[in-house]
Amino acid sequence: MRYTHDGKRRKALFVGFDGVRDDVLRALAPPAVQDLASHGRWWTTTLPDVDVAPTVTAVGWSTLLTGVWPSTHKVSGNQDEYHLLHRYPSVLTRAYSADREIRTYGAASALIFGTHYGPGPILGPGVNQLSFFDRRDYRGGFSDTDPLVLEEARRELHIGEHDLSFVYFGQADKVGHAHGVGDEYRAVIAVLDDYLAQLLEAVRGRSTYDREEWLVVLSTDHGHLDEGGHGGGSWQERQSFIVAGLLGGGTAAQWRAEAEPVDLAPTLMEHLAVPIDPSWGYAGRALLG
Ligand SMILES: [Zn+2]
Repeated sequence: MRYTHDGKRRKALFVGFDGVRDDVLRALAPPAVQDLASHGRWWTTTLPDVDVAPTVTAVGWSTLLTGVWPSTHKVSGNQDEYHLLHRYPSVLTRAYSADREIRTYGAASALIFGTHYGPGPILGPGVNQLSFFDRRDYRGGFSDTDPLVLEEARRELHIGEHDLSFVYFGQADKVGHAHGVGDEYRAVIAVLDDYLAQLLEAVRGRSTYDREEWLVVLSTDHGHLDEGGHGGGSWQERQSFIVAGLLGGGTAAQWRAEAEPVDLAPTLMEHLAVPIDPSWGYAGRALLG
C-alpha cells in the first residue's frame, strides 16, 4: 500500500516556516520555493476570521498538523493547556498509529513541539524520532537553533528511513516581530529558502531516491502586520500559503485549485496511502485529485 503503482516507496516531508507572509514570499519568489512549486502548486490561503482561527502560532500549527479547525482541536493560544490534541493528534501520530510500519520524524525548536509548554508537546507519542532543541538554552533563540534543526534534518532526510517528517523553522517570525515586514524580514526568508534548498538536496541525494516518490509540502501558521506582530484579524495577519510538490513522481499529478490549511494533513495521508478514518474528523480533503 505504501508503494506507488510503479513500485516506488512513498515518502512525505512537511516543512514549516513560522510567520511568513504569502505576498512577501511571492514578491521574492526565492529559488527553492519556486523549485518545489514547479513540481506541484503554490496556493495562497487566507485563514478564517480570528474568532474561528486566531492568528497565533500554537493554533496555526495545531490546525495544519491535526487537519481540524480550532473549534475541534480547541487550542486557542500559545499557553493554552486545555485542548483536545490528545483526541486530535498530529498527522505524524495518526500515520504511525494507523500503520506501525510508517516511521515518523520531527525536527523543531519551538517549545510547543517538544516541551510541555502550553499545548505541547505537539510532536508527542507516535513521533518515532525527534530532533529537538530548546531555544531557551540559546542566546540567539531561533537564529541559533534553526541551523541546528537544519543540520539534523538534513542528515536524517539524507540517510534516514523516515516515511513522514516535519521540519520547523522559527526565525522569520522572530525577525517579523523585531523589525516588521521589511529588509530584515526579506533577508531571513532568503535564508529559509536556502534551508529548503538544502533539505530538497538531501532528499534528492538519497541512495534510494530513484525508488522513492516524495511529497514535499511547505506552509506557515500566520502572517504579520507590516510593522510586525500577529494575533489579530487583519488581512496581513491572516495570510498563509501552501506549496506542494511531488519529487520523483512519474505521472502528472492533478492538484485541486483551492486549498485550506486543514487540507494538508489529508494530503499527506493520501500520499502515504493511509486510509482516512472518519473518526479523525478531518475538515479538509487531499489536494491531489
Ligand atoms: Zn507563528
